[in-house]
Amino acid sequence: MDKISLRPYQKQFINDVRAEFRKNHKRIVGVAPCGAGKTIMTGWMIRESARRGKRSIFFVHRHELISQTSETFDRLGVEHGIIAAGTPMQLDLPVQIASVQTLARRLDKIPAPDFLICDECHHILANTYKKIINKWKDAFLVGVTATPQRMGGINLGDVFTSMVEGPSVDELIKLGNLTDFNYFAPETDIDLSHVHTKFGEYVNSELAQVMSSRCIIGDIVAHYKKLAKNKSAICYCVNVNHSKMVSESFLRANIPTAHVDGETPKKEREYLVEDFRQGKIKVLCNAELFSEGFDVPRCQAVILARPTRSLTLYIQQAMRPLRPDKDDPDKVAVIIDHVQNYLRFGLPNTVHEWSLDPNPPKRHHPAPVKTCPDCELVVPFATKTCPECGYKFVTEEDEEERLREHEGILSYIQREIYAARQQRITHAPRSPEDFMEIAKAKNYQVGWVAYNALEYATSYEDCLHIAQVCGYQKGWAWHKWQERRAKLLSGRI
Ligand SMILES: [Zn+2]
Repeated sequence: MDKISLRPYQKQFINDVRAEFRKNHKRIVGVAPCGAGKTIMTGWMIRESARRGKRSIFFVHRHELISQTSETFDRLGVEHGIIAAGTPMQLDLPVQIASVQTLARRLDKIPAPDFLICDECHHILANTYKKIINKWKDAFLVGVTATPQRMGGINLGDVFTSMVEGPSVDELIKLGNLTDFNYFAPETDIDLSHVHTKFGEYVNSELAQVMSSRCIIGDIVAHYKKLAKNKSAICYCVNVNHSKMVSESFLRANIPTAHVDGETPKKEREYLVEDFRQGKIKVLCNAELFSEGFDVPRCQAVILARPTRSLTLYIQQAMRPLRPDKDDPDKVAVIIDHVQNYLRFGLPNTVHEWSLDPNPPKRHHPAPVKTCPDCELVVPFATKTCPECGYKFVTEEDEEERLREHEGILSYIQREIYAARQQRITHAPRSPEDFMEIAKAKNYQVGWVAYNALEYATSYEDCLHIAQVCGYQKGWAWHKWQERRAKLLSGRI
């Protein structure tokens, strides 16, 4: 029974793939973010070809994905067999869902398919995958992925000859397939420059050392409380030990938290995920367990505590909380990046330029972003007002523009004040030193000195001078000068 109808962009995607087949491309990579419904789109194509008597195999590389795919195929009304260890085969059915490992081992027992679908096909250069596609060279192949590149930036041009791009993350957010998000990047003093890389990824043991410092972990808990209080969050850690340490810190702060890893018995893991879904557990700490394809319902926030150089891993982790929630239509996901991943990859909705060109593609530079100094939200560089807290960014350009505009007025006002000041010289104190002397004699506070001396400030240098005399920071002088200049410009003096 068909309970699924396609969205326009999904129809478009399927048509685009077919158009490539008609152009005699046999191996096509389809790019679409999570939330685009890749399984629905490819399942739809499989159903069409099954109706025309063609055999298809949809293969996935993680066990958990088999049951998820199977459910989607049931909803599409696609009768299918499963090829996985411990499951009896039904090879008479024209549609099969297979685990890569089992499929690669049973190649000789399985009738040749006409159509191969490779899920998460950024793995396709691995040997097991190659075995499969080399065995059935005549089959049409569609690989789907959100990030059509391999670790270390190698592209997939060795296997695929054509690429079809689905909707962007922003389009999916607009359509409601994904929720909007707020991306926070607290300032940290993590220095990764000494961590070596291997196969395009950081060396884990060295990473663990950097990331286990007490202050980083404390920061993780503090920022959760500040930015994602009471939200259900998944925290991605470097390794099992790191994950346990972070989990313990959350517990010490009375936040119900659990650590899960590959060793956690399946049943226990299921209970923990269920408790998480019900909100009994607020934070789930793990090391890469809940990345690819592993569905954790009700996730509202992610905490990135594992620096990565893999765009694929980054996108999988950062996009995890972007799934819409029927019970929470206004959901806005929270992403807290403690490890500066966004500086390497941009934000989850950054548009990347993909290529199948076998020569290394041009280095991609993510769109520039900046962090709000008040609330730590990461925003596009051109943002003037922080959408989260209303902070007004003053850019250098603004500053110059304003100065240009008001230069004339300002210098006029400065002259006027200067003249007035000259007149007052003889009979009134004016310099911060003057006021400081009075303050000392009369036992006034330093604030009184600053307050009075500021009345005579007509430049940033004046304010700096006052700060110096009063023992204040440069930042104070800058801040006061902004106020002062605004007053001067508005003629309120
Ligand atoms: Zn802000």
